[in-house]
Amino acid sequence: MASETEFVADILAGLPADPRLEVPAGDDAAVIRPPAGRRTVVTVDMLMEGTDFLLGPDCPPAAIGRKALAVSLSDLAAMGSRPEAAVVAVALPKRGGAELGRGIQAGLAELAAEHGVALAGGDTNTWDGPLVLSTTALGSVMPGEAWRRDGGRPGDLLVVSGSLGGSLLGRHLAVVPRCREAAAIAGRFDVHAAIDVSDGLALDIFRMMQASGTAAVLDLDAIPIHPDAVRMAAGPGDGRLPLDHALGDGEDFELVLALPADEARRLVAASGQAPLETPFTIIGEVTAGTGLYGRMATGERRPLTPRGYQHGLDDA
Ligand SMILES: [Mg+2]
Repeated sequence: MASETEFVADILAGLPADPRLEVPAGDDAAVIRPPAGRRTVVTVDMLMEGTDFLLGPDCPPAAIGRKALAVSLSDLAAMGSRPEAAVVAVALPKRGGAELGRGIQAGLAELAAEHGVALAGGDTNTWDGPLVLSTTALGSVMPGEAWRRDGGRPGDLLVVSGSLGGSLLGRHLAVVPRCREAAAIAGRFDVHAAIDVSDGLALDIFRMMQASGTAAVLDLDAIPIHPDAVRMAAGPGDGRLPLDHALGDGEDFELVLALPADEARRLVAASGQAPLETPFTIIGEVTAGTGLYGRMATGERRPLTPRGYQHGLDDA
């Protein structure tokens, strides 16, 4: 069995040098040079085997490493920030831990390279429990320009990137964080509020509206439905519509933005081509009041339950 020291030495030897790291991984702590004149944005996420994923043939360690970092980068994108660096803490099961750790590292390193993220360090422990992986990602943004959840205003239109639903068929393990899209939008469009879709389109929009003190009306015909949502709805015993999957499944990691109407239309028109290849779609509007409503093609509206994934939390 390899020792932890050997394992860590292996990982450190494989990390590419990065000019942002004044002191790279391997010391007691890393020293990062912040980009001149920009603010630091920080986010942390934790993935737990058995709750957030099940290791198996469809879910190799590299996919988990990639996903852990992708989830954090998605949060950085939702702040309109640029990813800069990340640190990772992992609790490996003793049995098979070394191979697992190497696989996770490979997935992390691949996504970090794709998005220009400096891996600045980490901590590896082993125990008798399942795999637990925590990622802290650092981004940068111009002062005062971070996209927040609480800036939505009545009259804004809501736009979403890509299409939604059915991510459990595999996309949840191949998350493409919308960092390039955020970079193409930040500073060029007047974004009032933003969130990434982690727990479900309806639930995450509801959260953004709660933070903004506003309501939202979603045009149900306009929601871009992913083909996976259609496949899932057609599955035996599913009993739900593709639209229900698009509204409630989560793990889409798309961006939802609230912008003034003319800005939203300008954004949608600019999408689908360089530098914003991902299509963006107007899916509804922000209104005064509270809650979430769905609007049919007939104009009739009904309250929409903000369904989505939430961790259970009980009092003692
Ligand atoms: Mg988020």
